[in-house]
Amino acid sequence: MKTIKMLFFLLTGLTVTVQAQQPGLMQALMDGLSSALLTDAQVAQLSRQAVQQMDSQNPVAGPNDPYTQRLNRIVRRHKTVSGIPINYKVYMVKDVNAFATADGSVRVFKGLMDVMTDNELLAIMGHEIGHVINHDTRDAMKKALQRSAVRNVLASRSGAVGKLSRSELASFADYVVGSSFSRKQETEADDYSYQFMKKNGYSVMALATSFEKLAKQSGGAGVPTFLSTHPDSKARAQRVRDRAKRDGLSR
Ligand SMILES: [Zn+2]
Repeated sequence: MKTIKMLFFLLTGLTVTVQAQQPGLMQALMDGLSSALLTDAQVAQLSRQAVQQMDSQNPVAGPNDPYTQRLNRIVRRHKTVSGIPINYKVYMVKDVNAFATADGSVRVFKGLMDVMTDNELLAIMGHEIGHVINHDTRDAMKKALQRSAVRNVLASRSGAVGKLSRSELASFADYVVGSSFSRKQETEADDYSYQFMKKNGYSVMALATSFEKLAKQSGGAGVPTFLSTHPDSKARAQRVRDRAKRDGLSR
């Protein structure tokens, strides 16, 4: 009995901390419990809150930082993609990573910018934005919320009604950053990026070479997060090369 009380105290303590940090996210997650079906607007709102939280927890490059200036230059023609307004930021983190969220936030890590050319960065962002346009990100988020809801219902049986632990919030954030998509979703995001590059007059080969660089990265020490959610870089590069050849764009 003592143990249970202690555990409850610990959970409550953690919840208070999380609540103080991010009341909006907390409230939104709580709302998710009562509605099995989330609207797209709710998902976008949640994404924005999750991104705001991540921005506050990561070193964001300032407006005059060379990395920000380079990214701004690369994306200057792409502030709106397929009708969705996109906001871009650089995280001064050495990981080879990038992600896009359902509200149209794109975050590129310093480590990725260090190894990729401008066109390769565009190809990778095109892929990530493809997941947003194809609603993969939205669907992954809905799944994450449902999972949170299930956990909370289970927790309520032992007395901790609707309490969210820090680990639950963390697992939710994992979904936002590194949603694992199906092979079909990955292929479709690749195709979106290919079209994006082609339509805007960039070399589609940058998509292939970016995958090849990612494949090499995985051979080194420490597999980048980006790769763990995006497998088969070599095969995907070859697929792009084959298509470019057919389209007469392989130079
Ligand atoms: Zn992907």
